[in-house]
Amino acid sequence: MKNDVSGIRINGPRLLEDLEKVKEKTETPGKGVTRFSYGAMDREARAYLIESGESFGLSIETDPVGNMFFRFPEDQGKPVILAGSHIDTVQNGGWLDGIYGTLSVLEAMRRIREEALVCSKSIQLVIFAEEEGSNFGSTLTGSKFLTGRYGKNDLDSLKNQDGISLGEILIKEGYPPYNEDMMLDWRRIQGMLELHIEQGPVLAQQGIGIGIVERIYGMKVVEFTFVGVGNHAGASPMMGRQDALTAAATGILEVEACGIDLGQGQAVATVGKIQVLPNGSNVIPQQVTFTVEVRSPQEETIHGIMEEIQFRMEEICRRRNIHCHYREVAFSKPDFMNSKVVTLLEDTAKQLGESYLKMNSGAVHDACMLAPFVPTGMIFVPSIGGRSHVPQEDTRPEDLIRGADFLLAALLQLADCN
Ligand SMILES: [Zn+2]
Repeated sequence: MKNDVSGIRINGPRLLEDLEKVKEKTETPGKGVTRFSYGAMDREARAYLIESGESFGLSIETDPVGNMFFRFPEDQGKPVILAGSHIDTVQNGGWLDGIYGTLSVLEAMRRIREEALVCSKSIQLVIFAEEEGSNFGSTLTGSKFLTGRYGKNDLDSLKNQDGISLGEILIKEGYPPYNEDMMLDWRRIQGMLELHIEQGPVLAQQGIGIGIVERIYGMKVVEFTFVGVGNHAGASPMMGRQDALTAAATGILEVEACGIDLGQGQAVATVGKIQVLPNGSNVIPQQVTFTVEVRSPQEETIHGIMEEIQFRMEEICRRRNIHCHYREVAFSKPDFMNSKVVTLLEDTAKQLGESYLKMNSGAVHDACMLAPFVPTGMIFVPSIGGRSHVPQEDTRPEDLIRGADFLLAALLQLADCN
């Protein structure tokens, strides 16, 4: 006979204590958390997770790029339900991004152990290495290796700002040698769940506790270069200048205008990186290079907005007698979460009596990398003030506990536990 598992909840105070402890061990007081993969703070967090997992009998494996898997040893041979997130942060990031989802899965597994539940599928915690791209400028590195988007060659080509390759760092840190077998075996994996803070304002503004992600925004990044004529800032009259920076400034305002006018409240357009040459107070700028990033849940909208931005940039350059060229740097299509998993999460919310919102995610997550291969779902909890990737990142304790309870309930159904 099946046991009724619907009343099983996580241990909320214990989850909050775990989060506080990892924060204490790895934060820079007053400056948030800087926990880069393969660094000292990352080692601290891993040690904490390993000690916690081993304390209730999990077997733990670390792969050649630093992804980790926590399993119940008795589950050997069962089909797998993965659940997890990342533990690395951006420079001076927040205390919840990634680690919240990770510690919540660990707590869910601890409760499954305490209740002596038997699941027909093996729930496994996966920790994705180097999600934020803080070392090598490439996001989702661990999940790209797990899904075959990255392979052996990328160990050499991914380099940090000191010119040290990922492969060299992994050897120095003592990770196991690269082996293609590290890729996930899709014949065995039947589902993937990621719990994460929203990192935007929607849930907090609407007073809703749970977000069920339907779609993740696609993204296109184009790098523009404006070339004018550099000259002495004092000796050159205002008329007739070919100032690359004033042209770029006009262009950047057009990027914002396109985001507002064509984005229909959903798409976003951002210039986040700019380089001015020669960058001297007494020289008319000769050359300006800047990135334009457009994101939207609709692929056509991304292309449409970017085409309009390119048209307006060319117009500005023609008017101001500036040479301009551009190149595409990155593109990813919008990703869909699995509709059956979305339905299961909606049913879970109804069973728990939780208010929920089906929503899109403007941020990309490891779950997106797995979504094309395996039924995948994502759960969000509110971010206070919608803030993330900054030291002020926070979520109310009751929302953290609610999200982890929700994750546990969904996992018990996905893995058929009783
Ligand atoms: Zn994250």
